[in-house]
Amino acid sequence: MTAINSPKHRKAKALKPGSRRPAKELCSECGLCDTYYIHYVKEACAFINQQFDNLEVQSHGRTRHLDNDRETYFGVHHDMMAARKKEPIEGAQWTGIVSTIACEMLNAGKVEGVVCVQNSPDDRFQPMPVIARTPEEVLAARVNKPTLSPNLSVLEQIEQSGMKRLLVIGVGCQIQALRAVQDKLGLEKLYVLGTPCVDNVTRAGLQKFLDTTSRSPETVVYYEFMQDFRVHFKHEDGSIETVPFFGLNTKELKDVFAPSCMSCFDYVNGLADLVVGYMGAPFNWQWLVVRNDIGQEMLDLVMPQLDTQPVSSQGDRHQAVQQSIPAYDKGVTLPMWAAKLMGVVIERFGPKGLEYARFSIDSHFTRNYLYVQRNHPEKLEAHVPEFAKRIVSQYQLPET
Ligand code: FAD
Ligand code: SF4
Repeated sequence: MTAINSPKHRKAKALKPGSRRPAKELCSECGLCDTYYIHYVKEACAFINQQFDNLEVQSHGRTRHLDNDRETYFGVHHDMMAARKKEPIEGAQWTGIVSTIACEMLNAGKVEGVVCVQNSPDDRFQPMPVIARTPEEVLAARVNKPTLSPNLSVLEQIEQSGMKRLLVIGVGCQIQALRAVQDKLGLEKLYVLGTPCVDNVTRAGLQKFLDTTSRSPETVVYYEFMQDFRVHFKHEDGSIETVPFFGLNTKELKDVFAPSCMSCFDYVNGLADLVVGYMGAPFNWQWLVVRNDIGQEMLDLVMPQLDTQPVSSQGDRHQAVQQSIPAYDKGVTLPMWAAKLMGVVIERFGPKGLEYARFSIDSHFTRNYLYVQRNHPEKLEAHVPEFAKRIVSQYQLPET
């Protein structure tokens, strides 16, 4: 990677917090515009310039193979597995594979810093991006902050600090912008560790989601939309509350998700070197997608600490996806007894493993396609990548 310290971008002015961003309502607050790298926003912003093909070639040496179903859905990769830590990290979102990789990268001296996101001292869900330089600082960033997070707001500090070897942890929109400016950061080596991401919210939106869905919003420590078709809330006292997806108050929640997330087609973080999620794995396991040699290098560091098993796939998602399209579109909420019953039936006979991941991708891509078509029709053609168009074309969508 060449270091091009363009004097031009250093003269650009970062935007003030709260001011309108170039992507307007579609801004995901990725943080780029909080830095002088705003200079590159027209090319770099995931919501202004969709350029998966270019960035896949830049990051992985090729685009995803669209004649291969797995690549169409999950992006360029050479390996995929289910994994979990033999000794999970207490308080991590799942078993802490992400935090472990970041700690080991520092311990091995492969990087000097890790871009990750801690929470502000007075609010566990308020994101506070940092460049961690010690394993302790990485561990302080464990667990999801389920809100839009300006991770790239620390980018100026990297160039100014003279850091040469960096690991960035982030979600798809952050990584798309990062990839577009990575050659401007003055780095010799960049590692990108991604997580999948969907249905993110602003801090205010998160409160509404918690208030309408959990029995005790103020004690929620973390939550996850799980493979058993339920939202699992963990409370301060360690108790777990579960709410079936189909019982969610869709009318109330329709406007909660950020417009950026309603128009995102990078659920699986296609530009990261290694992706750690859960949705393609059996319940209670994490899901790893190794996209290139850099991703493999990160995974190799922690392999001895993991149990692994091959991924599998079971069931057929198509009917469930097709049926959920009009329900979501019209904001229909099932009564709780019907939602529970539907959840039980789907869990017993429905999609599992990679088929569950496809179910989730299909449901979100069809919803998001309709959202862009209705709200930003002029962007539809260029903004929706070819792989997403193929996925959506399997379904009948309501008239817009
Ligand atoms: P941990 O070791 O607990 O580390 C979590 C890491 O996430 C930390 O390093 C932290 O810096 C980073 N992080 C936390 N919040 C944010 C944020 N808002 N933006 C960027 N980085 C952040 N996986 C799926 O398979 N399907 C999904 O639908 C899905 N949705 C997600 C939505 C969000 C908003 C996020 C942040 C993650 C999502 N994931 C999803 C990933 C999954 O929830 C776990 O984060 C992942 O499996 C890693 O777990 P872990 O225990 O290894 O992470
Ligand atoms: Fe700027 Fe990021 Fe918002 Fe795009 S998404 S306008 S790059 S802050």
